[in-house]
Amino acid sequence: MPDILSQSVQYLKSVGPKRSESFAKIGINTIRDLLMYFPSRYLDRSTILNSVKVLQHIREGYEGEVTIIGEVVSRDLIRYGKKQIFKLRLKDGSGFFECVWFQGIKYFKDIFNPGDYYAISAKPVLTKYGHLQFVHPDFDRLAEKESKDFLHTGKIIPFYRVPKELRTANLGDFSLRRIINFAVENYSGNMPETLPEDLIQAKGLPDINSTIQNLHFPSGTDLLETAWRRIKFEELFYFECMVALRKSFLKKKGNGIAFKVRSEPLKKFLASIPFSLTASQLKVLSEIRKDLESDRPMNRLLQGDVGSGKTIVALIGIFIAISNGYQAILMSPTEILADQHYKRITGMLEPFGMKVGLLIGGQSRSERKKLLQQIKSGEVNLIIGTHALIEENVEYDNPGLVVIDEQHRFGVVQRSRLIRKGIQPDVLVMTATPIPRTLSMTLYGDLDVSIIDQMPLNRRPVKTYLRGEKKLNDVYDFIIDKSRAGYQTFMVYPLVDESEKLELKAAETYYNELKQNHLQELKIGLIHGRMNWRQKEKVMSEFAEKKYDVLVSTTVIEVGIDVPDANIIVINDAHRFGLSQLHQLRGRVGRSDKQAYCILITKDDLAVKTGQFSFNFDYLSPEQIERNKSIIRLNAMISNSSGFNLAEVDMKLRGTGDIFGTKQSGLPEFRYANIVSDFDLLVSARETAFEIINDDPTLDRDKNSVIKKNLRENFSSNILLSQIA
Ligand code: ADP
Ligand code: MG
Repeated sequence: MPDILSQSVQYLKSVGPKRSESFAKIGINTIRDLLMYFPSRYLDRSTILNSVKVLQHIREGYEGEVTIIGEVVSRDLIRYGKKQIFKLRLKDGSGFFECVWFQGIKYFKDIFNPGDYYAISAKPVLTKYGHLQFVHPDFDRLAEKESKDFLHTGKIIPFYRVPKELRTANLGDFSLRRIINFAVENYSGNMPETLPEDLIQAKGLPDINSTIQNLHFPSGTDLLETAWRRIKFEELFYFECMVALRKSFLKKKGNGIAFKVRSEPLKKFLASIPFSLTASQLKVLSEIRKDLESDRPMNRLLQGDVGSGKTIVALIGIFIAISNGYQAILMSPTEILADQHYKRITGMLEPFGMKVGLLIGGQSRSERKKLLQQIKSGEVNLIIGTHALIEENVEYDNPGLVVIDEQHRFGVVQRSRLIRKGIQPDVLVMTATPIPRTLSMTLYGDLDVSIIDQMPLNRRPVKTYLRGEKKLNDVYDFIIDKSRAGYQTFMVYPLVDESEKLELKAAETYYNELKQNHLQELKIGLIHGRMNWRQKEKVMSEFAEKKYDVLVSTTVIEVGIDVPDANIIVINDAHRFGLSQLHQLRGRVGRSDKQAYCILITKDDLAVKTGQFSFNFDYLSPEQIERNKSIIRLNAMISNSSGFNLAEVDMKLRGTGDIFGTKQSGLPEFRYANIVSDFDLLVSARETAFEIINDDPTLDRDKNSVIKKNLRENFSSNILLSQIA
């Protein structure tokens, strides 16, 4: 029987070849794809007010947004001197109201037609003439019948995102709604179940058919909620199945290398390190050592705040691997960091007869060719570079350990390239992103987690101050004063714009200004994102050699750079940075036993407000949190030095958003589920997936065949699966 769901959307009522092309542009090819295109939000009658009710709300002092439905009566373009306002008048059963736009008038003035029905959402205001008004509201067009149905029968109306690819094919809000409605009514019953029956029973989830039906056209809020629960659970469940499979595959005995740790050379190496390791570093080291000695491949995430000393721990692991006759690979997120590692590490390993190679862009062809040859022959023991080390076709002799610095995005690194004769190298991933432990364990269930939770003993916490712009002169004086005592300063400015020209211009403007005015007597350097890595590297080493007192930079110094005498960092327009960025930047200083300072500069009124504001999340309403985000961030920076505490604040600030910049941190992104607000579902999905995979690692039991089928269909590109199946 041909699978009807796999047929093109083209044959659906009112689609046709042209529209189906537009659908294809947003990834919707088949009827199944269309059924899986879920609404981005809903209009629920219980949340709708009429104009009389809204007025009452305003009188009672209610401040939030409301939604109201009305029919367009008239449109007006009003001139006030040079300015224009676009005003839309609407009516509902109980009265009139208006919407106004001050911006984007060109666009808005043409899209509303008298007689059309709209759902309008915004915070209502009362004009001085006593009119009910909405300024720049959200709006959705409804069919007349829809709005009647909705008001009289209490239906919930779905809204779909209508990307421009669809708009250009003349598909609007309700034509899309109509097409999807048709597909749901006729075909949603054909969807085969995608979760095992016993699981659906045990978890009390709705079946796939009613799930799809209710996600599109819910017959009630309860059903809508359970439908979303199921779809999110399913998404998380399959993700966790992959994690569980990976774990069961990796943990097979005999797949890895059992390194031998000989204590004599190791002792000598440890003795050559100019400081003693912290208790926390020692604990982590013993965890890593156990992994190295075991014949199961290591897959470990090493978390530790900026400056906590992760590199040295990794380097000891590297030393052990090389002592066993294997090669080690150290991957950095940037070339400049790779270069920094190379310079430091070479000096530490060479006395032990170990050869280090640096593979990055910008090397001459012959240089590179020679190096590749030495890597292949095993002459080079440690290879340092960026992720190109694994992505490009570099051939290794016998890789035994891969260390990935500052970026666990590569946590699921393409090990396959490194597997020799069925032997997996050990992998250690280091990150300064303080993901709460519960979360990292759940998302990276196949990674073991080690945490360095202690700073080197000689460190004093960085003193953090907040200053308004009018205090800038005092700050400059402070910098001048301190540079006489040998202190160096990072002067950081936010990126005004992503565009090349503007960044360059801004960076140079700041630089010249400081040089010509405020900091004339100091030596000033400049580094910015538009330099190539060699130029950056040159400036950084000049800074490290103290050729400059002050280094002006856009945020390129964010990760990993280590300049011990730079003990002051001034962050301009601090309110424009995210919390994780602020914390990363602050981590650039305080790397010696001298007192370090982080000075956050912000607008004067923000500085005053932050000073007055003491917050406790338990007592703040979501609106208050939303309104005071920058103040809360700045406040958190002044009162916290721990990255883990800041991560928690950040999580609360972002609420349902992404944690500590998900994209940067490399946490997986889900289409439906949110790892913060759906955390309970994540835990439950994980437990279930691990139970099933532990019990049936090859998914051969009948009841699990549905899982196997789905994994094959949806994760077929994953190499791992072919290794298992
Ligand atoms: P991160 O964890 O941010 O990668 P690094 O490994 O770069 O931190 O270490 C930061 C600095 O601290 C380096 O200069 C390193 O040599 C130094 N360091 C590491 N461990 C110790 C220690 N136990 N005592 C003193 N200094 C240390
Ligand atoms: Mg580091």
